[in-house]
Amino acid sequence: MLAEIARTNVTDIVKCGIGSDFMRSIIAIEQIAKVDPAVSVPIDIQITLVNTILMKLGTEEQKRMYLPRLANDTIGAFALSEPTSGSDAFAMKTLAKKDGSDYILNGTKMWISSAGIAGLFIVMANADPSKGYKGITCFIVERDSPGLTVGKPEIKLGICASGTHPVHFDNVRVPEISILGEVGQGYKIVAGSLNEGRIGIAAQQLGIAQGCLDATVPYTLERIQFKQPIFNFQGLQYQIAKIATHIECARLLTYNAARLVESKTDFLKQASMAKYYSAEVAQHTCTKCIDWLGGVGFTKAFIQEKMYRDCKIGSIYEGTYNIQMNTIAKCIEKEYKNM
Ligand SMILES: Cc1cc2nc3c(=O)[nH]c(=O)nc-3n(C[C@H](O)[C@H](O)[C@H](O)COP(=O)(O)OP(=O)(O)OC[C@H]3O[C@@H](n4cnc5c(N)ncnc54)[C@H](O)[C@@H]3O)c2cc1C
Repeated sequence: MLAEIARTNVTDIVKCGIGSDFMRSIIAIEQIAKVDPAVSVPIDIQITLVNTILMKLGTEEQKRMYLPRLANDTIGAFALSEPTSGSDAFAMKTLAKKDGSDYILNGTKMWISSAGIAGLFIVMANADPSKGYKGITCFIVERDSPGLTVGKPEIKLGICASGTHPVHFDNVRVPEISILGEVGQGYKIVAGSLNEGRIGIAAQQLGIAQGCLDATVPYTLERIQFKQPIFNFQGLQYQIAKIATHIECARLLTYNAARLVESKTDFLKQASMAKYYSAEVAQHTCTKCIDWLGGVGFTKAFIQEKMYRDCKIGSIYEGTYNIQMNTIAKCIEKEYKNM
């Protein structure tokens, strides 16, 4: 499977002829998700969140210390969500208390992708709850820090090969030099990085939709009913044409959002639109592909069943469907009020 991922990925990126880094990353996530959406998760988090935050906000020393490891042998995890703060991420309870030149972290993070294999955690904790969300601070925490423990993996509906764990911080001592950005600026890091991260999830969902369609159309060309391939029936052709068009729309939205990031233009609305729409298209595509396979589509022998389960996460993580709608609506309100 990995060979297939590598082959698809490289060939399609070269074909695309797009030279810039962010766009290249987005296309890589799409191509990997076409083959296995779960494998695309740690790659997406590493590229769009962990490495990006370090590159943008890390001091020279932090970059020298962590980026070579992240490029070589270390998986990074992004620890924001908690049992009582998901969509309302800034309501986090994890605390960072100053102690000399160190900070002591206490709290529990929830749903942390790759936590089981991560060597490094980007952790959000509140260093001054009296200031509300303006106390949120971003820390780089090594996995082997005393007091950091990773809980049992969640048993999930889909993307099962991507581990999701709670992470506990019990008096974890972190030196001041491990603060990313400035004390109290973590909320800006969260907002900024998740906005870009959403384009990565849009790419993942786009990849799922395309991968599922690619696995299904050949079947419709071979499966004979009423003495002809089922693809011959206009009823099926029109459905396939419609789904292929939806996928192309999701691709254009996703690539456009990536292009806006690269051109340093405001991309907030477009990123949310790309994530919301790609996730919807992935769910619709997987449902239709199973329909077109008939009975075999309902078995675990076919990849479509896995894609159907894997795509569901697209409307949940890095901002649920409703949160994307909130963002899009806020942008529209602003645009029209400023007219
Ligand atoms: C497989 C998986 C991997 C994940 N990986 C990570 C990770 O690596 N790092 C990390 O930090 N987090 C991660 N998460 C957490 C994920 O980002 C959250 O689950 C997500 O943000 C939703 O939060 P919640 O689960 O608390 O749901 P809630 O916020 O409780 O939402 C429940 C429902 O209420 C709705 N809702 C909430 N607020 C509003 C509102 N203002 N308006 C309208 N509707 C609203 C939501 O849309 C949703 O339908 C992961 C989650 C999963 C399932």
